[in-house]
Amino acid sequence: MSAPTRRAFVGLGSNLDDPAGQVRRAFAALAALPGTSLAARSRLYRNPPMGPQDQPDYVNAVAALDTTFTAEALLDALQGVERAHGRVRDGTRWGPRTLDLDLLVYADAVIATAGLHVPHPGIAERAFVLVPLAEIAPRLDIPGLGAVADLLEAVDRTSVVPLDAGDGTP
Ligand code: ADP
Ligand code: MG
Repeated sequence: MSAPTRRAFVGLGSNLDDPAGQVRRAFAALAALPGTSLAARSRLYRNPPMGPQDQPDYVNAVAALDTTFTAEALLDALQGVERAHGRVRDGTRWGPRTLDLDLLVYADAVIATAGLHVPHPGIAERAFVLVPLAEIAPRLDIPGLGAVADLLEAVDRTSVVPLDAGDGTP
């Protein structure tokens, strides 16, 4: 019997070494994961850094994946893609990075273990997540948080600026 396919949403972010290129290549890397297809991708958005301000602006986007990975295996795979993109974890929280991949939502799962929190705890406060997520899944109902469109109404999104026109194709 084949494993069930689940819809997952992944947040992409980069602010080093050609951030837009990093994010575009990350979409391709996600699409190439085993048992996984890229169902939708948002446009790229430019956004000021969260936390320490002495670092470049970020480029952020969101991907919708249909995957046979479990949530835990998907996080492992995302961290593999981060490493392949040269990400080095120096322990600085919210420090600059070539690529950050966050598992935002995994089907209707609610997970709270030492290494994995789903839905991702930052979603409701982060315009740079909500703007691209609302672009590709406005009616998504996030477990415990509610509809993406409603969450978006509650944040200041003025700092999140589209980088390209986008054509909506994966
Ligand atoms: P941040 O994205 O907050 O800047 P990191 O990318 O360095 O920080 O992630 C720190 C840790 O967060 C990871 O080692 C991972 O185990 C944990 N984590 C927990 N839940 C998630 C999630 N939903 N998506 C990504 N990482 C998560
Ligand atoms: Mg992360």
